[in-house]
Amino acid sequence: MVQAVPREPGRLWRNPEPKPAYDVIVVGGGGHGLATAYYLAKNHAITKVAVLERAWLAGGNMARNTTIIRSNYLWDESAAIYEHSLKLWEGLQAELDADLQFSQRGVVNLAHNLGDVREGMRRVHANRLNGVDAIWLEPEDVRRVCPIVDVSPDKRYPVLGATYQPRGGIANHDSVAWAYARAADALGVDLVQGCEVTGIDVGAGRVTGVRTSRGPIAAGNIAIVAAGHASLIAGMAGVRLPLQSHPLQALVSDLVEEVHPCVIMSNTVHVYVSQAAKGSLVMGAGIDAYNSYAQRGSFHVIERQMAAALELFPVFARAHVIRTWAGIVDVSPDASPIIGRTPVEGLYLNCGWGTGGFKATPAAGWVLASTIAKREPDPLALPFALERFTTGALIDEHGAAAVAH
Ligand SMILES: Cc1cc2nc3c(=O)[nH]c(=O)nc-3n(C[C@H](O)[C@H](O)[C@H](O)COP(=O)(O)OP(=O)(O)OC[C@H]3O[C@@H](n4cnc5c(N)ncnc54)[C@H](O)[C@@H]3O)c2cc1C
Repeated sequence: MVQAVPREPGRLWRNPEPKPAYDVIVVGGGGHGLATAYYLAKNHAITKVAVLERAWLAGGNMARNTTIIRSNYLWDESAAIYEHSLKLWEGLQAELDADLQFSQRGVVNLAHNLGDVREGMRRVHANRLNGVDAIWLEPEDVRRVCPIVDVSPDKRYPVLGATYQPRGGIANHDSVAWAYARAADALGVDLVQGCEVTGIDVGAGRVTGVRTSRGPIAAGNIAIVAAGHASLIAGMAGVRLPLQSHPLQALVSDLVEEVHPCVIMSNTVHVYVSQAAKGSLVMGAGIDAYNSYAQRGSFHVIERQMAAALELFPVFARAHVIRTWAGIVDVSPDASPIIGRTPVEGLYLNCGWGTGGFKATPAAGWVLASTIAKREPDPLALPFALERFTTGALIDEHGAAAVAH
């Protein structure tokens, strides 16, 4: 049984100085890093753990995503890990004793051409075989699920049908991060903010510690959970990752009446839209095509995204964009994550989630914690090992992840 650690009244977590050594260092204090630390402590009683975050907790992609949660991926390996995640989401508010505004309002993926229809139907069948809830909607069904989508047949991109996952939905990303942080802290994990990892020490083929902006810290296990910066940090230990970092933008409108009851995604028109609990319409696009580590994107991408949104939802013409932003996402060649060990003993990875890792936050933390604790890949993580890029056993989820999320 892990003992709860006291903290100052009124604080969600402590603000500790880094110690000279830990059993496990998690590099990156986004949602995945915090979940990893929490499950190390909770599931495996490993509490000498530090999460090192160069800025403030969960200010990276975790704060910038559009919060779509679903598990309707095509391949068995993906369905298994994303469905595990969705099941964890379903119990997470109770487990973390926090209001995460988790809302299973359903996720609809629109089909606009014959290719979309075939891909969508194939995915519905594959999902059902994997025990994932999936329904094929005809255009009239789409209108019933979401009355504000324009399903008239004379559009440039008519709605020919859609996949529908009723258990999909959204949650409040900040609340999720803070709930994991609070729970990990209470179990004894040190959450160290303003602590940038600048080097990884390796001796005799295994990690011995990290160098940071706040001095060296020793550890026999280091997990790189740094999303868009993962390849830079892995490079510090001489490990090359097949990842490209791209800006990914999103935006919100002013507050409007409750008009949008679900989540709508469209690969072809290339936009995805939901309505947050407070009323703003939350929209995202595809990645900006160039590589970058700057957390900003180009205006023309936003402009195209707006045009796409209006194509589907003419009623949005009177809403105003009030804020746009970008995160830096880590895109892998097969649009699937990289989880597990590296050629350097004691160095672990959780990266490559690209545009769709928010939904995986609970499962990513769960399987990485298990992999570190047991020193062998968690069965759900095994297919996502780095070696697949040399064996060729890719898990190509471009179809399910093309518009991201
Ligand atoms: C605009 C946008 C929309 C998205 N929409 C969705 C969506 O709807 N659904 C979905 O499932 N996913 C979505 N995603 C993807 C999702 O946000 C990411 O896949 C996921 O958040 C990545 O995991 P993370 O939260 O741990 O990453 P991050 O929050 O980025 O955490 C990584 C952390 O590492 C830190 N770090 C980097 N370098 C160092 C260093 N040297 N030392 C210490 N710390 C370091 C960073 O500061 C950062 O806090 C979206 C992403 C973006 C940008």
